[in-house]
Amino acid sequence: MAILRAEKISKSYGKDWAALSEVSFELAEGEFVFLVGSSGAGKSTLLSIIIMEQRPDSGIIHVAGFDSKTIPREKIPILRRKLGVVFQGFRLLPEMSASENIAFALKVTGQPRKYIRKRVFDLLSMVGLTHKAKSYPHELSGGEKQRIAVARALANNPLLLLADEPTGNLDPQATDELMELFFEINRQGTTVLMATHDTALIDIMPHRVLELENGVLVGDRPAGALP
Ligand code: ADP
Repeated sequence: MAILRAEKISKSYGKDWAALSEVSFELAEGEFVFLVGSSGAGKSTLLSIIIMEQRPDSGIIHVAGFDSKTIPREKIPILRRKLGVVFQGFRLLPEMSASENIAFALKVTGQPRKYIRKRVFDLLSMVGLTHKAKSYPHELSGGEKQRIAVARALANNPLLLLADEPTGNLDPQATDELMELFFEINRQGTTVLMATHDTALIDIMPHRVLELENGVLVGDRPAGALP
């Protein structure tokens, strides 16, 4: 079953060129897909259209049972809860500890306190950071911050995990650890779409690769086909 379907998505920011031109693809449930392209290729624009932060100028995006043509504004938060998002810059709240950052994502969906406590502990265990529960973001390494951000993104059991250059600020070892974590999350059933411009990363991974170039989808390498 398709969890996401992009049908001829186009978007321009009022410049001579389009940030996205008639981009079409599908993501099936359980897939792990890299979205590659150099800086400016349109990766972030596509992710922002998927989370319905902005609408396409033309075309339709179908995500998790909603579509960009008919979704009412008030339903967008409901869609967002079905999506987990991780950014290059982590976006943790600096005045909250690691566990509070994760708990925050659960509080906004109105979960009971007892459930939140257990869920936060389970998520910290999953990312290997129970010993950092009380640490604040400035006390964590980049790799640790990103793993907390992943735990937060997964708090509400999203159908789809989206990541925008999540390894962009990490050293090679933290990058390897984060990739292992993403693969594990995918093995447990979450669909993952990860944008990156790090082609070294995808050249050694046997996953599906969507390639954007100047807003055009120029490649769709199937899983299992290494270059
Ligand atoms: P990537 O994530 O692959 O680096 P982006 O989606 O950020 O690519 O950018 C695609 C194109 O759209 C670029 O030409 C960029 O300059 C332009 N762009 C992105 N966001 C905006 C914006 N908010 N306003 C104007 N132009 C933008």
